[in-house]
Amino acid sequence: MAKPLVAFYWCASCGGCEEAVIDLAEDILKVVDAVDIRLWPVAMDFKRKDVEAMPDKSFAVSFINGAIRTSEQEHMAKLLRQKSQLVVAFGACAHLGGIPGLANVANRKEIFETAYKLSPSTPNPKGIYPQTETKTEFGTLTLPEFYDTVKSLGQTIDVDYYLPGCAPPPDLIMKAVTAILEGNLPEKGAVLTVDKALCETCERNKSKPDKLAIKDIKRISEVIADPEKCFLAEGIICLGPATRGGCGERCINANIPCRGCFGPTKEVKDMGAKFLSSLASIIDIDDEKEIEKIAEKVIDPIGLFYMYSLPTSILRRKQGV
Ligand code: SF4
Ligand code: SF4
Repeated sequence: MAKPLVAFYWCASCGGCEEAVIDLAEDILKVVDAVDIRLWPVAMDFKRKDVEAMPDKSFAVSFINGAIRTSEQEHMAKLLRQKSQLVVAFGACAHLGGIPGLANVANRKEIFETAYKLSPSTPNPKGIYPQTETKTEFGTLTLPEFYDTVKSLGQTIDVDYYLPGCAPPPDLIMKAVTAILEGNLPEKGAVLTVDKALCETCERNKSKPDKLAIKDIKRISEVIADPEKCFLAEGIICLGPATRGGCGERCINANIPCRGCFGPTKEVKDMGAKFLSSLASIIDIDDEKEIEKIAEKVIDPIGLFYMYSLPTSILRRKQGV
């Protein structure tokens, strides 16, 4: 019997999601045994025209990682949607916009100026920026258009399932692949992990006092965190209350607070706002000046509270740019 055809594709991301597939270790042999990988540019040489020539819905599933930042990524996402029965947004950037989505605090002009003009290591006296078309004596060279706004995959195409995480853990990947192969899938649009807050499964939750109250905020770099105690109760920002569980508390186990890569639970509309309201409710200070001082200790609020979710948040991007 012919094996189901599978595609892996990489949009705006760091490559960690591709490594997560390799992290399946010997389980990858089970995947390779069960499916026919027909597109995986990071590992094998496939051409876009080969995909274009395939009948629609040829792929049983396409796993697409990364946010959508360029016209090429948008084109490939739409092409794979057309050629696939199922599309899985693989990892935090495809799911929520991710770290590349933090670029939504600026527009293309500002990004190009920083990258190609103002950065101290970039000599560019003529101020030459990348162009979508450049005529040379050898012909016209083209580059994809760099969009003003980063989008998640679900803001670009219809997505069937979301596999969360930066990067998704191997056990969740295997569960997703097995569920797809067995046709044992939840309702369309589901995030393929539990729907409860990370705090609910975190061992440190037991150390939380009945009434959480803090008088100061400390950065993780300023203290050696007690590995038994809840970060938040110690005044160290941990996004566990606003984040979906299922990662196995990977960061917490390494004595690092959660930064929210699994995204919000179903009932949370905006992770940053949810966390801010949790934080505000535990700050045990009445004096306004003291509260301001504490707020100033959060040096990069967007980068902290929306580290993975800015494009899919209510804010979405910096306005007026
Ligand atoms: S706030 Fe962080 S450390 Fe505390 S219980 Fe929640 S996930 Fe665990
Ligand atoms: S602890 Fe938080 S940031 Fe770390 S892997 Fe889990 S969800 Fe992601």
